[in-house]
Amino acid sequence: MNVHLVEETPWRHRIDPVDPMRVPGVVFAPHELLPLDPGDKALEQVANVAALPGIVRASYAMPDIHWGYGFPIGGVAATDVAAGGVVSPGGVGFDICCGVRLLASPLDRRGLLPHLPALMDRLDPLIPRGLGRGALWRMGRSQLHEVLRGGARYAVERGHGVARDLERCEDGGAVTDADDRQVGDRALERGAAQVGSLGSANHFLEIQTVDRVYDERCAEAFGLRPGQVCVMIHCGSRGLGHQICTDHVRLMDAVMHRHRITVPDRQLACAPVESAEGRAYLGAMAAAANYARANRQLLADETRHVFEELTGTGLDLVYDVSHNLAKLERRTVDGEERLLCVHRKGATRALPPGHPDLPADLAPVGQPVLVPGTMGTASYVLTGTDGNLAFDSCCHGAGRVWSRHRAQRECDVPRLRTEMTRAGVALRPTSWRSATEEVPQAYKDVDAVVTASTENRLGRPVARLVPLGVLKG
Ligand code: 5GP
Ligand code: MN
Ligand code: MN
Repeated sequence: MNVHLVEETPWRHRIDPVDPMRVPGVVFAPHELLPLDPGDKALEQVANVAALPGIVRASYAMPDIHWGYGFPIGGVAATDVAAGGVVSPGGVGFDICCGVRLLASPLDRRGLLPHLPALMDRLDPLIPRGLGRGALWRMGRSQLHEVLRGGARYAVERGHGVARDLERCEDGGAVTDADDRQVGDRALERGAAQVGSLGSANHFLEIQTVDRVYDERCAEAFGLRPGQVCVMIHCGSRGLGHQICTDHVRLMDAVMHRHRITVPDRQLACAPVESAEGRAYLGAMAAAANYARANRQLLADETRHVFEELTGTGLDLVYDVSHNLAKLERRTVDGEERLLCVHRKGATRALPPGHPDLPADLAPVGQPVLVPGTMGTASYVLTGTDGNLAFDSCCHGAGRVWSRHRAQRECDVPRLRTEMTRAGVALRPTSWRSATEEVPQAYKDVDAVVTASTENRLGRPVARLVPLGVLKG
């Protein structure tokens, strides 16, 4: 599909609808953040998504947009369930419910630095990561089903955390509509051995410090202050989510013609939300979402124990939020209340102040939006704001600009070592060679991405965090 891009404001671009698009595309990015390299298909993907049956308002892209499977990463699309709206596994992604969890320490940077080498030495062998290399929680099938149904809630019931953790998790740490019968045998097999593991590459556990606070009132409500030490964890549903995505893309691909659906790209395989295949996927996806939440709960709890043991201080959960999920949400569209299936793929939900789904202590300030940047630059905490046009969604990271392959070509191991030393960051990768794929230059400038999010009213910055020590997958 040919994409004709129009600059709507200095911060935002529009793709006017041409056949088969049903709605326009809206890209919340200034020119310098657009994926414009020759051969890059991300903008075409925004246009393709606009052709999905039942899509309402627009196919949106966040400022960290880049090329993904079917949907762009940084893509948001809502479909009207009653009007035959579809759900598409490509609109969630392979790492179902991948997300970020932020924990706050009572220590400040100066108090932590003497402990940092010991903390890194202890966490390094303890936190399972890399491709298929063990997990914190060994379990059989029946316990795995408890995880799929109970998420972080189940992990806390089994002693891996405290009740307050759940108040600071999206959905209270578990969704109720998980249907573990829709999770195939291969997915279960892959999942059983990986509860409590980071995974590879872009997934990480990072010790950070708050280097700037933009909004003191929000920061205080989130439990953040200047100089404070935090831990950020980024991971998802590992092989289980990946296998569920693979299985359900295949199922939908086989029945699309029966539902009389045609899509401009086979990777957009989809089915009506109100069909057997649509419901099956959403049930399995919800099970993977619970799995990812239990996964982050376990990793956080282990880290908390290490901090307690080595520093004598605990870690409080700031928030846990997913950036790869589809959710059924009641929203007003054109003056009418509608049940929508909101796909956020590489996009974070960002509820505004006063939203009924927020816990009481966050209601006055809005939902924490966790935006990792890179292992050598910065990460951000934003808050949801009123007037968000993209169904209360915000960016989820800096977003890749170099392919993994290109990053390996541009950056060798000695250069990465030098850069990390210069940035003052202790890096513990599973492999230095593969960590070159994650060099900060491989990503967009996170400060620019956050500015674009703010200018487009997707969120508002609360705090900026910089890394001290990083365990990379
Ligand atoms: P994704 O979920 O798309 O794989 O990654 C989300 C974002 O995490 C990326 O766009 C990137 O900005 C960020 N990121 C990747 N690796 C690191 C890291 O080691 N540390 C931090 N702070 N952010 C990272
Ligand atoms: Mn992931
Ligand atoms: Mn992710």
